[in-house]
Amino acid sequence: MVRKCFEVPEIGVAERIEIPAKRAAVVVVDMQNDFVNPRGKLFVPTAPETVPRIRRLVDRARAAGALVVYTKDTHYPGDPEFSTWGEHAVRGTWGWEIVDELRPREGDIVIEKTRYDAFYGTPLDDLLRVYRRDHLVVVGTVANICVLHTVAGAALRWYRVYVPMDGVSALNEFDMYVAARQITFLYRGTLVKSVDGVVFT
Ligand code: ZN
Repeated sequence: MVRKCFEVPEIGVAERIEIPAKRAAVVVVDMQNDFVNPRGKLFVPTAPETVPRIRRLVDRARAAGALVVYTKDTHYPGDPEFSTWGEHAVRGTWGWEIVDELRPREGDIVIEKTRYDAFYGTPLDDLLRVYRRDHLVVVGTVANICVLHTVAGAALRWYRVYVPMDGVSALNEFDMYVAARQITFLYRGTLVKSVDGVVFT
C-alpha cells in the first residue's frame, strides 16, 4: 500500500476561452447508461450532474457550427477488459446506449471505441481531418481514464485541447486532480472552469 500526502501543484484554469466554431469539435466521452445512470454497471456518482451542462454545450456547439462527436465504450462478450472492470458497455445493450438526455442528433458523429483512447483503432482522427477540426473540447467520463486517454490521443496528434471541468466526472477528487495535472502539464491542454466559459466564435 502506497500512502503519502503530497502537495497538489498549482493547476491553471481559464474562466473563458474563444474557439473558432468551424474549426471546433466537441467530443462527448462515454456518456452511456452503464456509467451515467445509477442502474448502470459502472456508475460514476458525479456523472449525472454533468448531463445538463454537456447538453447546454452541445446545443450551443451545433447552433454555432461546431461538430459534435460522441464516443461509446464498446465491448463484445468475453472482452479481456472485463477482467479489470467487470462486464460493461456490451454492444447492443441498454448500458451501452448514450443517456437519453444526450442522444446524438442528425449530423453528429458517433465513434465506437474498444479502449480508453477514442483515437485507438477508430476513424476519429480521419473524420476530424476530413471536417478540418483541430480544436477539440473534451467532456464526459471518466476523467482520469477515457477522458484523459482521449485527450492524450488528441494532444499527441497535435490537436488543441480544452477541457471544461464541470463537464467531466471522476470517481474521486484525487483522480480528478491527476487528470487535470496530466491534461495541462503533459498534454498542454487548457482547463476551463465551466462549459459556459467555452465561447464559439
Ligand atoms: Zn470499457
